[in-house]
This record gives sequence, structure tokens and C-alpha cells, in this order.
Amino acid sequence: MRVAVFSTKGYDREFLTAANAPHGHELTFFEPRLGLLTAPLAHGHDAVCAFVNDTLDAPVLEALAAGGTRLIALRSAGFNHVDLVAADRLGLVVARVPAYSPNAVAEHTVALILALDRKLHRAHARVREGNFSLEGLLGFDLCEQTAGVVGTGQIGRVVARILLGFGCRVLCYDPTPDPAVEAMGAAYVALDDLLSQAGIVTLHCPLTPRTRHLIDARAVSLMRDGVMLINTSRGGLVDTRAVIAGLKSGKIGHLGLDVYEEEEALFFEDLSAGGIQDDVFARLLTFPNVIVTGHQAFFTREALARIAETTLANVTAVERTGTSPNRVGGDRIKRA
Ligand code: NAD
Repeated sequence: MRVAVFSTKGYDREFLTAANAPHGHELTFFEPRLGLLTAPLAHGHDAVCAFVNDTLDAPVLEALAAGGTRLIALRSAGFNHVDLVAADRLGLVVARVPAYSPNAVAEHTVALILALDRKLHRAHARVREGNFSLEGLLGFDLCEQTAGVVGTGQIGRVVARILLGFGCRVLCYDPTPDPAVEAMGAAYVALDDLLSQAGIVTLHCPLTPRTRHLIDARAVSLMRDGVMLINTSRGGLVDTRAVIAGLKSGKIGHLGLDVYEEEEALFFEDLSAGGIQDDVFARLLTFPNVIVTGHQAFFTREALARIAETTLANVTAVERTGTSPNRVGGDRIKRA
């Protein structure tokens, strides 16, 4: 197939080109994000390969379908940015990478927890300046904590396992509890109970209309004083303004984010010369107890290799059979 690859960086080219050897697809790499203005670049390509901050709403999908595209091959697990109803109406197959390395995201989540707890970001900056004072760097023993894992799918269950390994008491919330997670020693509770009991709350559920702003002012008010909140899932799960209010009042003691609800305008680009235009995001960065990474939780060698392999296998499957085991939407939408 001819595949138009959007939002490509050097590492995407490297891993997709290597994984394409057994498939032999014709890959055209485009640096810009996919949107209404850039959709014409895909004209004549059977497939469009897109990433998390590409726009895949109805007008973009209509432009792609009109240009001859019949497959949207996502290089991501999340598909909240795709209008699946429009894709189905236009006869576009949408396929994703359901699992590439839950460990990559889970380990980054734990890296944020440990860095915030032991204030590694501040300690590093101090030592580089010759300041060896420990004032303000007091942490806590992780093994004494109750951690709350919201969403125990592929990533959440690895986070639960790692935190149990640290000796934490682990509470979980998921509308579909997993007996294997309980067997590890974690306990499922209602979301409000998790929020009110956990000293660390970490989010691993998908962004849907139901989970948008799952963490809002009410949820923050239920949390323990000084709680640590971690979001490596999707920015829209958290009402950033409510969280800023929680940081100002001290209700939230630590915040670790790898995702942000308005990240499309910021992440994956070097904006260091121009300054940050987003005042809400800029306010977040003023707090010493906040660490933000720019959607890098997935970014390991192992994950990139599997993303590339599965993406190209999806393209080959659709070329040969018209569908893919990793298809999203389609039949499910028709049945609904
Ligand atoms: P998954 O589909 O395996 O698991 C999601 C879990 O969330 C499921 O068990 C589901 O039942 C549960 N869930 C659904 N609605 C819920 C709700 N209202 N409250 C609590 N739980 C709910 O997904 P996954 O592979 O574990 O990924 C989780 C999320 O992580 C993805 O949706 C994606 O948004 C995000 N992600 C981020 C990165 C990154 O680099 N930061 C990389 C990959 C995935």
C-alpha cells in the first residue's frame, strides 16, 4: 500500500523503515501534523498513518476518503481523537496498536512517582549549583503508602504490580475488575473510596465522554490532603484548572503529568525560543511540586519497535483481507 505517514520525527522514520522490510509498503513521510490544511498531502495514498495529536475529525476524514484513503493506521493505543462514526460512514477502516509496551508507560509512571517523592528534579538542580542543602527535599517511604490505580487494563495492571512490589497497599477502580489484579494482592473499591483513601492516585483509563474531567473540583475535594496525582493516560481526564486550585490550596501535594488537555499546541515540538503561550500550562510549571514530561511515557526502543511492527502489520492485514484484528469501530458502531 501507499502510506502517508504524518507527524513524523526522525525516530518514526527509523523504526518504521526498519519494520517495513518484510512488508514492502511505500511509505511517504510528512513532518506536519494531519489536519484539514495538510490532508491533501495524503491524496492518492491508500493508508494514512497518524499519531496522537493528529486531527481525525469528520472534515479531515472526509478529505482523506475523497483523496482515495481507505485505512487510518494509528501509531497509538488511544483512539479518542478519531471520529469513529464518521470513519464508519465513509467506509474507512481504523486500526490501532492495542499493546506495544505497557511496561514503558507503567515504568514512566513509577519514575514520576519516585522523582516527585524524593524531589529528584530539585535535588539535581541544587547539586549542579553546588547547593547541598537538604531543606525542602524531605520525602516519604513508598512502602508505607496506599496507592490508587484508576483503570486496570494493560498499563494499570503493570503499575499495580510494580507498586505492590514496593510494598504499597494498592486500591483499584475499574468498571470491569480483573480477577488477576486481585490475585496479585490489590483490592477493587468504588472510585470515591479510592480517591478518599489513596495517598497516590494514578490514572490509566481511556479518555471517553464519560471519563473527561474524571478528576474535577469534586474529585480533588475528596482526595487526601497532600495527595500525589499522576496522569500518564490522556490530558482530558484531568480538569487542569481544578488541579491548579488544588495545588494552590495544598490539597494536592505532588503532581506528575505526561499528558495535558491542550497538549496539541505544545508537545513534540521545540518551543524553547518562543516561550509558552498557554497561561494555564505556564502556571502549572511555577509549582516546585509539579513535574511535567511531554507525552514521553511510551518512548522506549522496545515500544517504538513494536508500534512500527504492529502498524505495518495492520496495513498488510487490511491490504490482504480488508480488515485487521486491531480494527476499532466498524462492526461495533453498526451494532450500537
Ligand atoms: P486498556 O484499554 O488496556 O485499559 C483501560 C482500562 O480502563 C480498562 O480496564 C477499562 O475497563 C478501564 N476503564 C474504562 N473506563 C473507566 C473508568 N471510567 N474508570 C476507570 N477505569 C476505566 O488501555 P491501556 O493500554 O492500559 O492504556 C490506558 C491509557 O493509557 C490509554 O487509553 C491511553 O490513553 C494511555 N496511554 C498513554 C501513553 C503515553 O505515552 N502517555 C501511551 C499509551 C497509552
